[in-house]
Amino acid sequence: MTEVAPALVSYDEAISRYEPVIGLETHVELGTVTKMFCGCSTVFGAEPNSAVCPVCLGLPGSLPVANRTAIEYTIRIGLALNCSIASWCRFARKNYFYPDMPKDFQISQYDEPLCTDGWLDVTVDETVVRVGIERVHLEEDTGKSLHIGGATGRIHGADYSLVDYNRAGIPLVEVVTKPVPGTGALAPVVARAYVTELRDLLRSLGVSDVRMEEGSLRCDVNTSIAPRGSGTWGTRTETKNVNSLRSVERAVRFEIERQAGVLDTGGRVVQETRHFHEETGTTTAGRSKEEAQDYRYFPEPDLVPVAPSAEWVEQIRASLPEFPAARRARLQREWGLSDLDMAALRNAGALDLVAETVAAGASPEQARNWWLGELARRANETGADLAALPVTPAQVARVSELVASGALNSKLARQVLDGVLAGEGSPDEIVAARGLAVVSDDGALLAAIDQAIAANPEVADTIRSGKTAAAGVLIGVVMKATRGQADATRARELILQRLAEPG
Ligand SMILES: [Zn+2]
Repeated sequence: MTEVAPALVSYDEAISRYEPVIGLETHVELGTVTKMFCGCSTVFGAEPNSAVCPVCLGLPGSLPVANRTAIEYTIRIGLALNCSIASWCRFARKNYFYPDMPKDFQISQYDEPLCTDGWLDVTVDETVVRVGIERVHLEEDTGKSLHIGGATGRIHGADYSLVDYNRAGIPLVEVVTKPVPGTGALAPVVARAYVTELRDLLRSLGVSDVRMEEGSLRCDVNTSIAPRGSGTWGTRTETKNVNSLRSVERAVRFEIERQAGVLDTGGRVVQETRHFHEETGTTTAGRSKEEAQDYRYFPEPDLVPVAPSAEWVEQIRASLPEFPAARRARLQREWGLSDLDMAALRNAGALDLVAETVAAGASPEQARNWWLGELARRANETGADLAALPVTPAQVARVSELVASGALNSKLARQVLDGVLAGEGSPDEIVAARGLAVVSDDGALLAAIDQAIAANPEVADTIRSGKTAAAGVLIGVVMKATRGQADATRARELILQRLAEPG
């Protein structure tokens, strides 16, 4: 069935008449060494079907055993999200056919999730929005199909398909928010800010590598709209597998515009799953709720209930790290930055880099200047992420130290960074190999100064007559002669001394 394209409604117009409600379901691949219910390795990129066993292949008679570390990680996540931790809960069997899933059911959690009823605060435009957390539950991932021979890599048009079961049984946590009303025009930005904050939080907990581009963090975005002031909520759609922060924002935005178009023309929004298209920023209809299957959930009979003791939960709570929001507030205080400066650091992905550079000995101001200035420019030129530049915070700190001690000026420091980025070695090795050091030795400077005076007698006369600002011209000549290595402050002093001497 093809979908009738909705009438176009601009975002501003849509939001002036409709109030959105959003909700997010995030799947997080846990970074455990072994799978959820067997001892198979979770290592990425192994030979297809090499990390499998009777349990994750769903062979008859095999019995699953729950991974204690995965349960601990889930409790960590639940505690960090201010959830209640169940003292007793069960896994549930979710029945459906899927070629990537050899058992024909997935072990998940249904009406007894491990963690419930929490919240996560996100800051948008200096406003704190509290996003309620409905549940955090644990389940297993499915395998992966590869469709060979078609142009698109999809099953349509493929000659044949291969299945890799290495992923089958990898532990996944699903974090489900409560509906978030009242965000108005900010709804798309709030959605993005929530996923960003959740990602940073999960990373700080050390439970996942949270790489959206590699699928270890995947997001489904729920959106509904209702006429402003109606006091009701509209029918929601669920946009699946939105795989970047930017896409989260775009998907919500597009759904608001699309649904406004549907309602404006007297239509009704269908409750359905939709697919997001990265290239166009649009969504198209997937499965409608009417066709949704009944998963016939029932308590998983092959597993004992999960009953974490209060003592264990408290041990886990005591081991939680400083959370990203608290850390940002602390660093901002320590560095004396404004909210705006802090936001700039975060948006540039430079927060951790600056923190590490400061930890390696640079001043906060220097660290920030290098990463947001020169290095951001280089990253921009090559289209790389700041963090992907081949320079470490320790190296930036060393360059910064050499500048602070007067051994390098800013021009030479940039040349040293050139060398580091080109893989020539450490800052000290490059200083030695390229002979980059500020010349502040009076003997060497005076030789260059005398040449500069001799070559520019009119400028020298001007300075002698008292117009000392003209010394800048001679400093320029000295700089050129020393390939930028002269200590400019010392050169100026020497020039003025030289020309003040009775000639
Ligand atoms: Zn296995």
